[in-house]
Amino acid sequence: MVDLGGPESHLRPAVAAAAVTVSLLLSFVTPNLIGPRMRRLAREEVPVGIRPRRQWVLSGLSITLSLALPLLLFARDEPALRAIALLSLLAGAAGLANDVFALPRVVQVLAGILIAWAAVHLGIALDEIKPPFVSHLIALGRWSSVVTMIWLLLVAYAVVVCRRLPRLTPGLIAIVSATFALAAFIAGPSRSAPAAGVAGLAAAAAALGATRRSYPALGSSAHWALGFALAAITVAGMLKNTAFLVLAVPLLVLGVPVGETTYAIVYGAARGGSRFALGQRRELLHDALIRMGLSPRRTVLLFQAATAYLCAVALVLVVLVRVTFVAKLGLLGAALAAGFVLFFFAARIAAEPGESAEERVNLLGVPLARMGMEETLARVEEFVRDRSPHLIVTSDSTGIVRARDDPEFQEALRSAALVTADGRGVVWMARVLGLPMRERVSGVDMMERLCQRAAERDWGIYLLGAEPGVAEAAARALCARYPRLRVVGTHHGYFTPAEEPGLVRVIAETRPDLLFVALGAPKQETWIRRHQDELGVPVAIGVGGSFDVLAGRRKRAPVWMQRAGLEWLYRVLQEPKRLPRLLALPRLVWMTLREALRRRG
Ligand code: UDP
Repeated sequence: MVDLGGPESHLRPAVAAAAVTVSLLLSFVTPNLIGPRMRRLAREEVPVGIRPRRQWVLSGLSITLSLALPLLLFARDEPALRAIALLSLLAGAAGLANDVFALPRVVQVLAGILIAWAAVHLGIALDEIKPPFVSHLIALGRWSSVVTMIWLLLVAYAVVVCRRLPRLTPGLIAIVSATFALAAFIAGPSRSAPAAGVAGLAAAAAALGATRRSYPALGSSAHWALGFALAAITVAGMLKNTAFLVLAVPLLVLGVPVGETTYAIVYGAARGGSRFALGQRRELLHDALIRMGLSPRRTVLLFQAATAYLCAVALVLVVLVRVTFVAKLGLLGAALAAGFVLFFFAARIAAEPGESAEERVNLLGVPLARMGMEETLARVEEFVRDRSPHLIVTSDSTGIVRARDDPEFQEALRSAALVTADGRGVVWMARVLGLPMRERVSGVDMMERLCQRAAERDWGIYLLGAEPGVAEAAARALCARYPRLRVVGTHHGYFTPAEEPGLVRVIAETRPDLLFVALGAPKQETWIRRHQDELGVPVAIGVGGSFDVLAGRRKRAPVWMQRAGLEWLYRVLQEPKRLPRLLALPRLVWMTLREALRRRG
């Protein structure tokens, strides 16, 4: 058996760096070298049912060569690297034959076994492992070849499974290979670790070029070359580690393909096993996600995020190699449980909501309007015409939690004519619970749009709340934007209980159509509800810190943060005293999770 690298290894860092750089260059440049033809193929609409053979062949050649050539050129003296390079060439060639001739399944399986056998003869072998609680390495002896071949085939198969979801493989391989490279470097002093590290980086580089959108579909060639290279890297890099790491790290790092196959097995078994017949299309996890309403693109992104998470966990385990086995197991369990919850939440949130005729959804006891901005504005118009008092609440996710502990606020929410989702958190929570929410309608956006409409319809508006001078400044800013806006009055929000009856009377006498109340939640909602009848205003709405924003005293989060659902973070950074509010978040996650499980059960 060839000795894989070692302390006497000739692999110099400069040479290794050159090999990886050339891999990267080749993987990015080949599509351009082949030039317009490649791009045309990428754009070409391939009719469903026709195999895009030329695309498979070109991308297979490009990836296999980007991976293998630099390793052969720069590190021929390094047996492990030469072995990995030759193996990926061999696997790429076999894959190419499958791309062109569509080999029967039996031949594909035989080819796989032959490649694995060749790998063992090239020197890639899992020859000793260290079981938990045992301090020495145990030699696998004559079982080494069989164990290695099974392992190589399993890992390569896990990668080939990813083929069913177009565009998943390149990103996945890039993340996974880079992780193995890092793990191999950290986990040293395994003798073959440097080689595995360099090969991992070269594979990551080769895959990275294919993550570009213009790249054609990947076929067997690319998948087999990358799959076997990765399998060989896992063997070379993890060889001399504890059995726990030898098993846990690849299983974690390949969590997505492993999850896909496990799902197929569990789902198939639950369905009576009929789906297991050879040649039948199995139901994989991504099929279930797409049925749930995720687009293929979001599914790929979700899988890549999951892979990145699992890779990070794997790296932490590698770093903590000296920690006791039980502690590592506990850490792994906790990380997997948290990852599962995150994955479940993210999948539900990313799914397109189904259509529903319902106007409201019941979110943990809060009747939440499903409407978008336009419908909300139309509804307010009806309320103004109706003239009887209506309360509108714009609730963020902390409001939903608060309603649990504050009966008066809960009553206000229940009696409200409309509760809108003021924040991504609320929309996300609803989606996690499978409630078909569409978009958020924030207080400050709604206030602006309502003022625009008020100017058009000649509605009178009253601004109550915020520190002295702020309501006036907000009114001036609004009037500058909508010159025909009729502001019938303003008042600050720091009045005493004794002043309250007088204030209510003044507001009622000015007869506004819309009353904006900025006292902060839940004060503003309970205040409106208590005085609704005396006020006689058709529409009163709690708008929190909107006056401060309109008056220019407080900045709104940048649009990208709003889109990413991070407005709360921006506000906390701006006003650290809001930090205690974040304590509601873990409770919110817990409440949502419990409810989600209850609904499923
Ligand atoms: N406020 C007020 N009277 C009070 C307490 C608060 O007018 O007794 C004002 C405060 O000046 C600020 C707004 O209410 O303009 C609360 O803004 P915040 O962003 O905290 O609202 P929330 O996010 O709680 O809805």
